[in-house]
Amino acid sequence: MKVAICDPIAKEGVEFLKSKGVEVIDLTEIPKEELPKHIGDVDALIVRSATKVRKEMIDSAPNLKVIGRAGVGLDNIDVEYAKSKGIKVVNTPGATSISVAELAIGLMLAVYRKIAYADRETRAGNWPKKKCKGMELYGKTLGIIGFGKIGREVAKRAKALGMKVIYYSRTRKEDYEKSLGVEYRELDKLLEEADIVTLHVPLTPETKHLINEERIAKMKDGAVIINTARGGVVDEEALYNALKSGKLYGAALDVYENEPLKESKLFELDNIVLTPHIGAQTKEGQKRAGVEIAEKVYEELMKS
Ligand code: NAD
Repeated sequence: MKVAICDPIAKEGVEFLKSKGVEVIDLTEIPKEELPKHIGDVDALIVRSATKVRKEMIDSAPNLKVIGRAGVGLDNIDVEYAKSKGIKVVNTPGATSISVAELAIGLMLAVYRKIAYADRETRAGNWPKKKCKGMELYGKTLGIIGFGKIGREVAKRAKALGMKVIYYSRTRKEDYEKSLGVEYRELDKLLEEADIVTLHVPLTPETKHLINEERIAKMKDGAVIINTARGGVVDEEALYNALKSGKLYGAALDVYENEPLKESKLFELDNIVLTPHIGAQTKEGQKRAGVEIAEKVYEELMKS
């Protein structure tokens, strides 16, 4: 059995495959456009988000049985085409949930306590103590939109910080309401009530610009938006206007409509914290994802 690793995964994952007698080829240094030339005899591909597994890639690997994505989103894989050829596609949906949840909490603190702004000013030799007066998360209401794996991890941590937690999701999850001590709200009610709104839904036609001008207008004056889900769930133009006008106290984004974000009006603003899609980028999360994908790919190869 031969597996090609196209994007770097944790070494523990590679070691697992080797320990099972699988031949592993490391293609992580090969330019992406040259990958099809190297996968003619592989049984499985392992990728993260950088490698695009489209029709051409799939057709150049006639033995291909499994495509493993270490991570969540499958937007870089032509899943329908793979399926039509009987190729199984697997991913690691829960491996980095805690990493993303911790980033969301970190961004809430960064916005409320103006940490990024304070850092920039201090390095510049300024001492803007008064301008850095922030707020406590304690006692505030957090509105979680999308109550799946990540949303629920955020809820647990927010409760530990003394926040009231309300959530909106496509389906109401009464079991979790009891066990996590959270309350369900319809979307508009959540927007009216929350001091901080954090997004944890996938990007779909339904969630595209879920947070737009109209919905921001429904939010409390001085509220905060955190987006670690997917770019496009928040309308960046509407967000910019609301931050500039002071309708919103602040915001933080880890994901953007166009990535990598090279130019943006948002760069002008001091009340937004921007990170380069690092939600899943932790040592622990990547290790979990690497091991889990290796195990899943091996399991599927054994079945085939
Ligand atoms: P999940 O599938 O466990 O949860 C998503 C939740 O959103 C589900 O409860 C679902 O019912 C709900 N939902 C879907 N469509 C909805 C709609 N139209 N309205 C209301 N609720 C809706 O997913 P997850 O693992 O919690 O991930 C959530 C998001 O985080 C995904 O978009 C994922 O791509 C993103 N993510 C980002 C990073 C990062 O690096 N920033 C890393 C991992 C995941």
